[in-house]
Amino acid sequence: AVPQRIVASSEVERSYIMIKPDGVQRGLVGEIISRFEKKGFLLKGLKLFQCPKDLAQEHYKDLKDKPFFPKLIDYITSGPVVCMAWEGAGVVASARKLIGATNPLQAEPGTIRGDLAVQTGRNVVHGSDSPDNGKREIELWFKEGELCQWESVQAPWLIE
Ligand code: GDP
Ligand code: MG
Repeated sequence: AVPQRIVASSEVERSYIMIKPDGVQRGLVGEIISRFEKKGFLLKGLKLFQCPKDLAQEHYKDLKDKPFFPKLIDYITSGPVVCMAWEGAGVVASARKLIGATNPLQAEPGTIRGDLAVQTGRNVVHGSDSPDNGKREIELWFKEGELCQWESVQAPWLIE
């Protein structure tokens, strides 16, 4: 169970964040993790992982009828990804803001995609689009026992 930390403005929730193969190949792992760390979210799970095709297809099942779906599956399975579970108040929407628009050319400067990528098909990072999908995706990508229960010593300096 998720430890309960009561927050006035927003629910504690979890987002599945993944550095895609281009982010790993381009040496952006530290840079991307650092953005979520510095913001003040709590890292509950982290692994480098070679994604099998069936998992990529399940993860992106809502896009299975899109013309780019086969290319998307090839991309996500083309090399190791970094899988992360991040927790915090409002983390799902906030992470989407930190990540920026799907098309990196439309993503604002200051966002991960706005600063570090140029093409939709190589947009370096994934973030869940709802708390329900955050839960679904973390259950999909992590096995029992792979997440850690811990509290950061920074917690009282992040949330009053
Ligand atoms: P996201 O939530 O911002 O990642 O965007 P979506 O859920 O709409 O799409 C999932 C992923 O599919 C994107 O991050 C891209 O990697 C890829 N994708 C989406 N649209 C396109 C497209 O038009 N062309 C290509 N090649 N890939 C796309
Ligand atoms: Mg999406």
